Amino acid sequence: MSDINFPEFRSILLEKGRIPRKLNENAEQQRLLFLEYIKNGKIRTEEVTACQCGCRDLERIAEIDRFGLPFGALICKKCGLVITSPRIAAESLPEYYDKFYHVLNYGHLHVHDQQALFRLWQGNKIYRMLKPYLPDVKELSVLEIGAGTGNVLKEMTEEAAKEGVTVNATGTEYSTDCIEECRQAGIDIVYGDLDTMVAQGATCDVLILSHVFEHFTDLRAELDKIKKLLKPQGLLYIEVPGLCNIGNIATYNFDFLEYLIHAHMYNFNRTSLTAILAGGGFETLCANEKAEAVFRPCETATVVDTSSNYSDIMGYLEKLVFSREFLKEGILNFSTIRNNLKDDLATVHRWHEHEKAEAEKFARWNEAEKERGDTARRWHEQEKKVATELMHALDVHFKTPYTSVRAKLESYRGLRETFAKYYKRYFG
Ligand SMILES: [Zn+2]
Repeated sequence: MSDINFPEFRSILLEKGRIPRKLNENAEQQRLLFLEYIKNGKIRTEEVTACQCGCRDLERIAEIDRFGLPFGALICKKCGLVITSPRIAAESLPEYYDKFYHVLNYGHLHVHDQQALFRLWQGNKIYRMLKPYLPDVKELSVLEIGAGTGNVLKEMTEEAAKEGVTVNATGTEYSTDCIEECRQAGIDIVYGDLDTMVAQGATCDVLILSHVFEHFTDLRAELDKIKKLLKPQGLLYIEVPGLCNIGNIATYNFDFLEYLIHAHMYNFNRTSLTAILAGGGFETLCANEKAEAVFRPCETATVVDTSSNYSDIMGYLEKLVFSREFLKEGILNFSTIRNNLKDDLATVHRWHEHEKAEAEKFARWNEAEKERGDTARRWHEQEKKVATELMHALDVHFKTPYTSVRAKLESYRGLRETFAKYYKRYFG
């Protein structure tokens, strides 16, 4: 199945007694309240017994989600679709989204306090991905379901305008906070979802589901609605958090449980996403493991081979668990190394202090020596002067011509006086 042979990975995936994601105070309070709502049945949950592909051979691979809440995950052994189970029952979803979703997921009480919905460049990226498949037209109608604060539509409109294409953008939202933000940004926004737009008889060239598709429960039913909304040759952009991309996103910490979230009914990789879309009558134009994909409705049904997807995903999860355990061990080792380094540093510090004291001592000693040296030099200069004077006196005496005894005697007296002066100085 995989080359890592890490058999305990299944039991590690099924861990229960922890909260994988660090929560702030708002989110923590909301989490406890949510648990209470589940316990007393105010929010109803249900077990999933069959995959979207019809298969009932499901294997449990998680007991909790990133909040440590009792929403685990099952994997379909036939197609590899990872399904949240238990999940929030359809009738409880409106209350859940209204009361719990935003605070629990983002930790902020108001939309305008949070950054997650303002993801920059998302609109530019989507436009670039769609571009190769867009018809050569001057006008494009774009519909985004779950438009958030309207950032994607705004960026797409600006990006298309650079190429002389006018985008007629419409978005839908449930959050009144988001609707207000969209209105302020001048975006045409409708309260509702796919049903609302179908009921209005709307059509579009491009339909965007950016981090929305994974929230749907009945995927086939939603795809049927999308087909009604898309014009012939229209494009469908879907982006979801890619299951086989967990290892590339730093915030997941190689942790499958940190990726899982109860609001996502399904977790897709490239294969399971394109397979579901193929089953719903969409051909894949492009798709990657980040789970960014462009589709087009088609008449003839296509089939995606999912036969190895279960083992591919389990192999990926095994590698992920292995990486996380390896990392944990690494962090442990690192902290030992860090402590050792701290000890070494303290030793170096002590040694440095000692050296500093020695250097100060030496500097003081050096000053004293210098002074002694100066004194010696002064004394030496003095001596030199004395010696020169004496030599000069001797010179004068011996060079005095012997003209008379009297003259010689006087010269000798001069010499004796000089000697006497210095004799007195040194010995007297
Ligand atoms: Zn399946």
